[in-house]
Amino acid sequence: SVPLAFFAGIGRASKDGILFKGDTVMEVIAKIKAAVMDKTGTITEGKFKVRSIIPYGKYKKEDILSLAASCEIYSTHPIGKSIVEAAHAKDLPLCHVENLHETAGLGVEGMVDGKSVYAGNRSLMAKAGISEQELDALHGEGTVVYMAKEGSLLGCITISDALKEDAFSSISEIKKLGVTPIMLTGDNRKSAEAVAEKAGISKVYAGLLPQDKLSIMKDLRRKEGSVLFVGDGINDAPVLAGADAGAAMGSGADAAIEAADVVFLNSDVHAIPQAIKLSRKVISTAW
Ligand code: ADP
Ligand code: MG
Repeated sequence: SVPLAFFAGIGRASKDGILFKGDTVMEVIAKIKAAVMDKTGTITEGKFKVRSIIPYGKYKKEDILSLAASCEIYSTHPIGKSIVEAAHAKDLPLCHVENLHETAGLGVEGMVDGKSVYAGNRSLMAKAGISEQELDALHGEGTVVYMAKEGSLLGCITISDALKEDAFSSISEIKKLGVTPIMLTGDNRKSAEAVAEKAGISKVYAGLLPQDKLSIMKDLRRKEGSVLFVGDGINDAPVLAGADAGAAMGSGADAAIEAADVVFLNSDVHAIPQAIKLSRKVISTAW
């Protein structure tokens, strides 16, 4: 039978917006050694804002933004949405992009007037035929979306996302509980490390494709012991399922919420140490 302490614990947890699915997940969370977190939407707000547009050579800022927004028009990624929003705010005209295609962890591509167009990160630019030297010449800081057309680099759009208000204090609490905080992200290393430093996380894996996240998770389970993964994206569903315990932010994609063992309805980072503490308390009372 299920010990009474579980019900008391689950009741308390729901007051804090923590939804445990079933009674075995608390046992797992009580014993975790590492809390592995996705960056975007988990440690940061996940609300991107366009900060600057850096043209390469003769191209105009408005043209770069309008073409990027035309490519991102159907994207559900927070990066794509922020670009469309910025173009709308400036009343920029959009054009029709044919064969539009989004690749998780890379960006979007399509055809305009028979010419190939790409909006995304460095890995996507390699596919677009742009050299590393050309990309380096732009000096984009933070999360960067490069724009290329028919083998030519047009420029880049820099985007930023704010750290969640309770990130630093919650990460400190996680460490005090003897759990190692680790960050995983598809974003570039420089941008990832800047966020990790502000949050107080020293273990960072950056530039990851969705499938890389799953293999790193398997590695971490071997190296660190029992692992809790906290994420929010559609791409995070396999990783959530691959961890010892998976937690999803309530603000996240339905697929993530479905794949998770525990849901943090308020989407705050503080729910992580809180879930660990509650689980430990329930387990120690129950047995
Ligand atoms: P995270 O791990 O931070 O949740 P994702 O796996 O969603 O990141 O995306 C990783 C990277 O892929 C982004 O930082 C961005 O460089 C690129 N990317 C993904 N989707 C898009 C898009 N729609 N437009 C431009 N770039 C994108
Ligand atoms: Mg994500």
